[in-house]
Amino acid sequence: MRKAGRHFLQIPGPSPVPDRILRAIDMPVIDHRGPGFADLGHRVLSGVQRIFKTTQPVIIYPSSGTGAWEAALVNTMSAGDKLLMVETGHFASLWRALALKLGLQPELIETDWRRGADPDLIEKALRADTNHEMKAVCVVHNETSTGSTSRIADIRAAMDATGHPALLLVDTISGLASADFRFDEWGVDVAVSGSQKGLMLPPGLSFNAVSKKALAVGANATLPNSYWQWSDMIEANARGYFPYTPATNLLFGLAEAIDMLEEEGLDNVFARHKRHAAATRAAVNAWGLEVQCTVDSEHSPVLTAVRVPEGCDADHLRAVILAECNTSFGNGLSKIAGKVFRIGHLGDINDVTLAGTLSAVEMGLHLADVPHQSGGVQAALDFMKSTREAKTKAA
Ligand SMILES: *Cc1c(COP(=O)(O)O)cnc(C)c1O
Repeated sequence: MRKAGRHFLQIPGPSPVPDRILRAIDMPVIDHRGPGFADLGHRVLSGVQRIFKTTQPVIIYPSSGTGAWEAALVNTMSAGDKLLMVETGHFASLWRALALKLGLQPELIETDWRRGADPDLIEKALRADTNHEMKAVCVVHNETSTGSTSRIADIRAAMDATGHPALLLVDTISGLASADFRFDEWGVDVAVSGSQKGLMLPPGLSFNAVSKKALAVGANATLPNSYWQWSDMIEANARGYFPYTPATNLLFGLAEAIDMLEEEGLDNVFARHKRHAAATRAAVNAWGLEVQCTVDSEHSPVLTAVRVPEGCDADHLRAVILAECNTSFGNGLSKIAGKVFRIGHLGDINDVTLAGTLSAVEMGLHLADVPHQSGGVQAALDFMKSTREAKTKAA
């Protein structure tokens, strides 16, 4: 049966693609080796550098984020190398599984999946590694399965305090362009990202930002790589081209996304996400439900994972909301399947989008008989009214 109105895609990636980006992608394909292509190539390659806040090369792959995870490892590591990884949630676990398949040896710092990576524990593990066998520390900036962020600048400082030479590899697939990220300033060595989250694009592009140190370490690394090889990319990119066929039309979209982010201003984009996350937590508190992340300074600006009461099934709730409100929320993954649902509040959204999104949750909680108090939507509106009022009065 036809459902009137737009589907609300409120999962934490892919995020809804703004009409402006859809229009930008809707173009005839051009010759990626022709004389006109380099303008587009240079435009997106320099644009993504500004988004990552780096003057270092950013490589753009035609792949999902998982490809860029693999690229980060196969360009810097040799068979059997040790890594330090932090199991902040499902995505950190998947990156570890990938490292194992590549023949690497990840040592794991476990968490309760309710917080970001602890810089002190990373420092301790590096200090214990007196022979410097660990070649990289791998952390997820925004853990999309739990709604917690890791404090990358603090992790860098903890690493520096030890004098350990390991590289810092950061997955900011769902963080970039929604949560503050500063590649150069924070001393990240490889940052991994994707197109379908904060960049508001369809799935299909991924990124590696690469430090000088990562390039130098990579020159002596021996894991086989070909499609993912940085050096071929960097050489062709210098002229505005790619060594193989790029996802041309997604690059049209990427250029538009960069324009949109810069028109709003990255700092305003980050503040908007933080404010919507706080409004969402106000709703969750009013419903009497629990947020998955338990550390105040580590709440994600991108999504909020909400725990359902004991004995309730979060997937049943999501199914009811989809059927009755035409709204999609993210499911709980692996360890927390059925226990949480995830509200995406990333990308091109405003106060009214969020109010609609939270209304779908409140309707669903009622219709699926999940024990809760009403008034969550009102609490979020009150929060958004008060913060907007403070701003308009100050202006
Ligand atoms: C989405 C996501 C991934 C996986 O990206 P794919 O594009 O699905 O390959 C990895 N890590 C994080 C943190 C993510 O949010």
